Amino acid sequence: MDQIVDFNPEDFDVTVQPGVTRKGLNHFLKDHGLWFPVDPGADASLCGMTATSASGTNAVRYGTMRENVLNTEIVLADGRIFCTAGNGRRSKKSSAGFNLTNLFVGSEGSLGFITKTTLKIYGIPEMMVSAVCAFPTVKAAVDVCVQVLQSNIPIARIELMDDVAMEMCNNHNKLDYEVAPTLFLEFHGTEESVKSQAKFAAEIADYNGGSQFRWAYETEERNRLWKARHDIYWTVLQSNPGCRAIVTDVCVPITCLPDLIAQTKSDIQQSGIIGPCLGHVGDGNFHTFLVFNPNKPEEFKKAENLASRMANRALDLNGTCTGEHGIGIGKMAYLEKEMGPLGIEIMKSIKRTLDPHWLMNPGKIFSSA
Ligand SMILES: Cc1cc2nc3c(=O)[nH]c(=O)nc-3n(C[C@H](O)[C@H](O)[C@H](O)COP(=O)(O)OP(=O)(O)OC[C@H]3O[C@@H](n4cnc5c(N)ncnc54)[C@H](O)[C@@H]3O)c2cc1C
Repeated sequence: MDQIVDFNPEDFDVTVQPGVTRKGLNHFLKDHGLWFPVDPGADASLCGMTATSASGTNAVRYGTMRENVLNTEIVLADGRIFCTAGNGRRSKKSSAGFNLTNLFVGSEGSLGFITKTTLKIYGIPEMMVSAVCAFPTVKAAVDVCVQVLQSNIPIARIELMDDVAMEMCNNHNKLDYEVAPTLFLEFHGTEESVKSQAKFAAEIADYNGGSQFRWAYETEERNRLWKARHDIYWTVLQSNPGCRAIVTDVCVPITCLPDLIAQTKSDIQQSGIIGPCLGHVGDGNFHTFLVFNPNKPEEFKKAENLASRMANRALDLNGTCTGEHGIGIGKMAYLEKEMGPLGIEIMKSIKRTLDPHWLMNPGKIFSSA
């Protein structure tokens, strides 16, 4: 099931089966001057990305899977097949009844199999330019992000890596970036609009003590820069041989982010655990990779406690325990705190209706019926 089953370039939509991956789709779309921008880094399947409501680096401009899925075909637990927006429907908007499409986006395989997903696609911008800028503190970098958004600059990507992540990234990729909290930015548009967006953002960065922007204009150079950013998970593991990492994924309202990251970094430093911080800061979403040696249970416990404190802090700030990775089995306890008992009961009753025998990914999202 690896086919592009429907393609409407002039309507900007495409329908794919589960075997089609993000990179595979973009390879196909490129010849038509189109692309699908949701980019979690990994070459995930588009139905899998629909199942987890993935997002990643471009979401600040183009939205997450929730904003980009128009319809899905579902095989229910009892074998019946239906389309969440109606058979073959692909209109950009609809007010027809409940939004069943977004019930299945992010359902993590717990309600049915997604056998087709219909996606919004976009024209490839005339110009894409990336830049890297270092800051004296994480707070200054995140403040820039907040001010760029408040100034309504239509930034395509704005990603943070802290000093710990930058050092590993430099060593692993033979790069020579400053070892300091750093923003990776990208601007999309016409030549004129990209220049004006970039100039405005550079002024904001300068005002907050940022270094000169280091530009990447050519596709190859931009790809090298984003590959270093995307590979950071593997970089962290390879920099700490034999170790594993707990990956956290909290997301909060953007104005709460500077304090949350500062508190988190201080907590990590006090614990003695290695924990680089990086994030899709334009969405208020950031990750830490809490490194532990699997042969040292006390390290795992410390990492687990750090992750727990981080999730609880995000919830206390009206945020979520997971911005884009999903609940899985690791975040079930936080889901209860996030949704409250009635929210959980409503979710479980939907699950019972669609999957009465609890066949679809049992043990994920909820521990029991
Ligand atoms: C190095 C790395 C970096 C990543 N960075 C990001 C990031 O920045 N942002 C982000 O959002 N994600 C990130 N991810 C996670 C990635 O987005 C997910 O792996 C992806 O969304 C899920 O797609 P998959 O094909 O890998 O699915 P899988 O990992 O195979 O499955 C994920 C879940 O979806 C369910 N599922 C999969 N396919 C279907 C289907 N067809 N129907 C129903 N249920 C299904 C599975 O049962 C499972 O519960 C990263 C992953 C890696 C490895």
